[in-house]
Amino acid sequence: MSNTIYNGNLSDKMPDEQIFTAIEWLAEQMPGGFFIYRADDNQEILYVNQATLLIFGCDTIEEFKDYTGNTFKGMVHPEDFDEIQASIDEQIADEDNEHNLDYVIYRIIRKDGVERWVDDYGRYTYLPGFGNVYYVFISDITETRIAQEQRERNEQLERLLIEAEQANKAKTAFLSNMSHEIRTPITAILGMNELIQRECSDPAILEYSENIRKAGTSLLRIISDILDFSKIETGRMELVPESYSTKAMYADLYNLVQLRAEVKGIALKFEVDPRLPSLLLGDEIRIKQVISNLLTNAIKYTERGYVKLIAYLESIENGIANIEITVLDTGIGIREEEMAKLFEAFDRLDVKKTRSIEGTGLGLAIAKQLLSQMNSKLEVESEYERGSRFSFFLKQKVIDEVPVGDIDFSQLEKDRTNAQKKHSYFVAKDLKILVVDDTPMNLQVIKGLLKRTCMNIDTASSGSQCLSKIEKESYDMVFLDYRMPNMNGVETLSEIKRRFPDFYEKVPIISLTASAIAGDKEKLIAAGFTDYLAKPVNIDEMEKMMLKYLPEDEITIIEPSVEDAVEDDDELQAIPKVLMECSGIDVEKGLEYCGDADDYMYAIGTYAKSVDDKAAQIEKNITDKDMEKYIINVHSLKSTSLAIGATSLFEKAKALESAAKEGLTENIEANTDELLSEYRALKVVLDTALKEQKA
Ligand code: ADP
Repeated sequence: MSNTIYNGNLSDKMPDEQIFTAIEWLAEQMPGGFFIYRADDNQEILYVNQATLLIFGCDTIEEFKDYTGNTFKGMVHPEDFDEIQASIDEQIADEDNEHNLDYVIYRIIRKDGVERWVDDYGRYTYLPGFGNVYYVFISDITETRIAQEQRERNEQLERLLIEAEQANKAKTAFLSNMSHEIRTPITAILGMNELIQRECSDPAILEYSENIRKAGTSLLRIISDILDFSKIETGRMELVPESYSTKAMYADLYNLVQLRAEVKGIALKFEVDPRLPSLLLGDEIRIKQVISNLLTNAIKYTERGYVKLIAYLESIENGIANIEITVLDTGIGIREEEMAKLFEAFDRLDVKKTRSIEGTGLGLAIAKQLLSQMNSKLEVESEYERGSRFSFFLKQKVIDEVPVGDIDFSQLEKDRTNAQKKHSYFVAKDLKILVVDDTPMNLQVIKGLLKRTCMNIDTASSGSQCLSKIEKESYDMVFLDYRMPNMNGVETLSEIKRRFPDFYEKVPIISLTASAIAGDKEKLIAAGFTDYLAKPVNIDEMEKMMLKYLPEDEITIIEPSVEDAVEDDDELQAIPKVLMECSGIDVEKGLEYCGDADDYMYAIGTYAKSVDDKAAQIEKNITDKDMEKYIINVHSLKSTSLAIGATSLFEKAKALESAAKEGLTENIEANTDELLSEYRALKVVLDTALKEQKA
């Protein structure tokens, strides 16, 4: 059937019938829609081709005529028609539009009711025999339009994302800078305050000063959380796995939170699986951070009852221990509907109840991120007003499979009080150190805190001042701040290396850095620093660092008071006989280092546990000919031996360490064998002493 819906009389000017039929045939074959309609009010359709019928979902011309009423108006979506008509009229009326062309896009409704988008190129013209008409090319652009809309949406989303990322970066940078800026003065405040506590004896002032310490420490904690969070957000938080002692870690955690629980009258229970391996490989600092966060939260949000930590050894497979760590409390609990917000940074739940409780809402966000870096996930279960349970699995490589055994946490508490009671320090009148920091108050604090050591303490406030001091004076040790204007710590160090190579060779140079980012330590050591000390400077850590690197014969260890010295005699009574009789051990010297019998025996326990592993490592270093690691291991054997008073081993290790450092490898193998057999023999004595002590 022909689609031709006109049968008008062709005028003289029309092409002859043969050509006309050919054109009509072509129009029928066209892939795009084509139609003609009268340019009058009725807009009667004079012709439509096959492709137009397809666009409208009609099979025959009759169907199409029926559906559209055979008018242009009937083809357009009723909601679009007026606007389209106005646009066509306007374009045709435009004087510059000499070809009477128009272009519009509108919706149609297909016969099956589906809405489609079409575009329409029309031309207004005079058709002999018909008068004024529009002829129109039409095509279905729905898919293109959807794709374009999608593209536009994506572009807009991308723009928004970039803007959001920029805003977030700006926020993180702000947080990071702000917390850094706050940390510097607050550290100085705390340092000055410690000077007051040391030098003042007026109880009222000491009480004010204690309040400054408490508030300052809590501010410092908040700032550290913000710094950690910004490090995590910017992906600068790296984990540093090192071997750590299971017992020491849980003991530290217990000591860290015990007092808080006690003050609140909440029972603190630690159930540490005695089967846990005694030495593991992991980032102990970050693991402790996660667990202590959960424990402090549990204590913060519990008014009565208990807080319990359970560490359960799920399995050991292929040298990997899978440990489930759970923190339970009988506290305020969390509402079901608030669970989702739990890990949101800066979000706090149940604001009415928790308003008076200190917190930033960052702890759990940090814990969650740290655990995800350790391939673990924090699970939470809670019953509102009954309590909460936070748990996660931790996979750690086993370094020493020997079970940790029962840890007596009540005993730890005693140790802690003893340790607090006594605090030995050292005096070194003939030593001279240089401390370089651009914040004068930091220098003043360090100087004040080190006053009791009677050392000669010189200071410099910039890299260049440090260099000119080194040029003129000699020092036994240098502490060099990292973050300084003009010339930072690393730059200053490389100048020292270049200009004073002899000084650099001889003198330990320790980096002080506030951005205690994991991984920084390695970078600083690689840059040539002897060691690294995190800021804010903890004076005990600083003194330990000095004991490690300053010449031993220039140092005298001082016990704090005469009563303690008297007490030391009692302490000797508490030492197992086998130790007193062992010729390789100077118990008094060990007590001098450790403080009291309890601490000393604890040190003996740790020492004995590490013997097998350390000896094996040293043997391996010899077989691998890895002198660098050999020196590290022998050095650590040397210092731990000194700490327990194992003087003979200390001397031997010391000789081997310096021989290895000087590259005198000749007798090293034979001497190491001798050292290790004495080392292993000592372990037998120590184990017997430990048994004797338990019995
Ligand atoms: P905050 O510094 O506020 O404690 P966290 O990120 O550690 O921040 O915790 C977020 C919120 O989760 C807390 O403000 C508290 O409302 C809720 N929350 C965390 N731990 C517990 C818990 N053990 N019991 C009840 N609510 C908790």
